Amino acid sequence: MPNELQSEQHQTTGDEKSAADAVWQQCLAIIRDNINNQSFKTWFEPIVALRLRSEELTIQVPSQFFYEWIEENYYSLLKRTILDVIGHHAKLAYSIVVQQSTTEPVTVRLPQQQLELAPREREPKPSLTTRPAFEFYKSNVHKFESFLNPKYNFENFIKGDCNALGLAAAKSVAETPGKNTFNPLVIYGGVGLGKTHIVQAIGNYARARQKAEFVLYVSSEKFAIEFVNAIQNGRIADFSAFYRNIDLLIIDDIQFFAGKEKTQEEIFHIFNTLHQANKQIVLSCDRPIKELKGLEERLLSRFQWGLSADVQAPDYETRLAILHRKLDQDGAMLSREVIEFIATNVTNNIRELEGCLVKLLATASLYGKDIDLSLAKTILKDIIRDRTLNITIDTIQKAVCDYYSISANDIKGKSRKQEIAGARQVAMHFAKQLTNSSLKTIGLYFGGRDHSTVIHACNTVEHDRETSEQMRKDLEELGKRIEIMSL
Ligand code: ADP
Ligand code: MG
Repeated sequence: MPNELQSEQHQTTGDEKSAADAVWQQCLAIIRDNINNQSFKTWFEPIVALRLRSEELTIQVPSQFFYEWIEENYYSLLKRTILDVIGHHAKLAYSIVVQQSTTEPVTVRLPQQQLELAPREREPKPSLTTRPAFEFYKSNVHKFESFLNPKYNFENFIKGDCNALGLAAAKSVAETPGKNTFNPLVIYGGVGLGKTHIVQAIGNYARARQKAEFVLYVSSEKFAIEFVNAIQNGRIADFSAFYRNIDLLIIDDIQFFAGKEKTQEEIFHIFNTLHQANKQIVLSCDRPIKELKGLEERLLSRFQWGLSADVQAPDYETRLAILHRKLDQDGAMLSREVIEFIATNVTNNIRELEGCLVKLLATASLYGKDIDLSLAKTILKDIIRDRTLNITIDTIQKAVCDYYSISANDIKGKSRKQEIAGARQVAMHFAKQLTNSSLKTIGLYFGGRDHSTVIHACNTVEHDRETSEQMRKDLEELGKRIEIMSL
């Protein structure tokens, strides 16, 4: 916790507590009228009024994050309300409950704050520590490779209701890595919704502002591969030492640790070392931690120590804002109706939203044409499917079986042969993309498989689409065939 926080010193009297309760109830009544019910329940109901002492009201909030959220989002409402209820000399102090895994919760107190004054000062920058050299990787921070992509930053990430909590938590973690109560921070949600962007933005921010020295971004797959290599090359001690020296460790897509027991054990020990040393851990996952299968219980429990925040599909306004931002970045222009056409039709994946723009702009520059709505519709017809088509899972299975020359029994059967399993995954991917069926239903159509198998299939295909030219071609061709068969 920041230095300015002091331990709770003065005993509160019964009178001070009841006075606080009384004024806080009046405040709540005003606040309730000014914000929506959900926000009220989330952010104000958990607050406890501790005491009112000479016009200074102390309220207790459940965490540092909570405090920051309220200050960022409700500062002026809270200020107005308290000045109204208590009078214009009113002051507000926060008491923050610090949950630590090893000790009882303790309360710390922020310095009292005169409501007339400007918001509080920034925290002092944490000083960088010097650390022992280790050989396997370079210990020199200038040579150290973070594997961060600078294009993922907070400046170009659009905030919306779909990602507000995750973004706020991410910024807070980036500001004070390891020194906050949400360690680890887990960002979870579906494909293409900004998880990688957010977790890398944390790393980029923390590195640029020297909030953390050794920042490492790694996908869980890469981690697992390097771990196995290290075992094979007898370098496991170096590997462990390397990871134990990271200040901010970002692991993307931890669902891929499923079933990898030895890797999980290594992660478990690294996690413990880093967590105990107040080093920050940031994770991303394609579903809530408690729905992860094939991970050890003790690891799951640790992953839930901090804060989990989800990213959801963006709403229309957010989609529009993202499109505008991307256009600005590229210095490109499109008419309003074309932008609205895309925002209306590409609804559940931001990567696809970007894909549409890229395709339009590429075609426009290739043919030297201005993009009007009808041209946009033609160019994007592969991506934005016609809503009048009636695509069923049966049709998809048939198209995929034809394409890969496998039998209808195989696609529903148990065979793990690469050609068959691969085709099955592709079919599941299309079923998810092109029909409104639930994961459970899709699983049933494929021989009664579990919904997590379907998620895995979709992720695998999505991943292969990015890395394999052949897969891209297959998907494009199959998409067309399914569409034609559904006419
Ligand atoms: P995920 O890791 O969840 O699959 P990504 O982080 O790779 O998704 O996001 C897909 C693409 O969409 C990236 O290019 C990312 O920059 C972009 N993106 C996602 N969310 C936003 C947002 N809120 N604002 C701007 N760009 C976004
Ligand atoms: Mg990702």
